[in-house]
Amino acid sequence: MAVRTEVAMSTLVTIRAVRPGAVAEESIGRAFGWFHEIESRCTRFDPSSELMRLTAQTGVAVPVSAILFEAVRFALLAAEASGGAFDPTAARGVAGGGWRDIELDEARTAITLHRPLTLDLGAVAKGLAVDLAARELAPLEDFVVDAGGDLYLGGRNERGDPWRVGIRHPRREGELIAFLRASNQAVCTSGDYERLAPQAGDGEHHIVDPRSGVSPHALASATVLASGAMLADALATAAFVLGPEEGIALLERMGVEGLVVTPALQRHETRGLRRVA
Ligand code: ADP
Ligand code: MG
Repeated sequence: MAVRTEVAMSTLVTIRAVRPGAVAEESIGRAFGWFHEIESRCTRFDPSSELMRLTAQTGVAVPVSAILFEAVRFALLAAEASGGAFDPTAARGVAGGGWRDIELDEARTAITLHRPLTLDLGAVAKGLAVDLAARELAPLEDFVVDAGGDLYLGGRNERGDPWRVGIRHPRREGELIAFLRASNQAVCTSGDYERLAPQAGDGEHHIVDPRSGVSPHALASATVLASGAMLADALATAAFVLGPEEGIALLERMGVEGLVVTPALQRHETRGLRRVA
């Protein structure tokens, strides 16, 4: 097994390849390259990042890189599909406005913000990085990309079985609440235990319900199994906002599988989900 861990996107990223060797090392290096590139383009914490240069301008079409365009395009698709429960402008640094104020020009890969907006790609950028990393690693067949709650499982484990993924217990540190089998699929979890903003008030966490402007509390965690991590990551965030019934309905409608856990530890899951012991 080849294993490498680096810090990227404010989380520990670990890549494992079942068969070690020079080719694996090179692919792993290129896979980490995507994390660093996407982080530097999409971060809100560096005023000179491509994202921040985009949001500094209003009312003009700004040509952007394929990476930033794809992240924003996907975020808008998720907003549309979730009826606005997912909204990359939800952080509301600037009052008013929303995802509908963002216009894409596919032919020119240009983006226009029709109002001043805070654009937060926190719920799609990591998934995009995981997917591009997985594409680099595809020739190795059997591998895992693990980016703090966002996973892509390529092929099979060292015993030749589909990967077995443990879903973290949202209330008991170090415990797992369920196991899923995955092969050439992503498994992403959004939880209320993650990344509490230091300035957050009581009960506030890193996910915001765009409709109320405060953190949603109907769920403790939402896990989605899908063909790719960007899709799974965005839908996990959307399901978290929507709560158990509407959240599961969204996942069913989108044709992905998922499992959500309420703060009282009740589980709701999609019909097709296959849990394993
Ligand atoms: P993590 O970053 O821990 O994987 P998520 O995938 O759940 O967590 O994404 C949460 C991040 O997405 C937040 O840190 C914030 O940047 C952003 N965000 C919060 N609420 C929403 C929302 N309703 N729609 C879209 N993005 C959101
Ligand atoms: Mg998410």
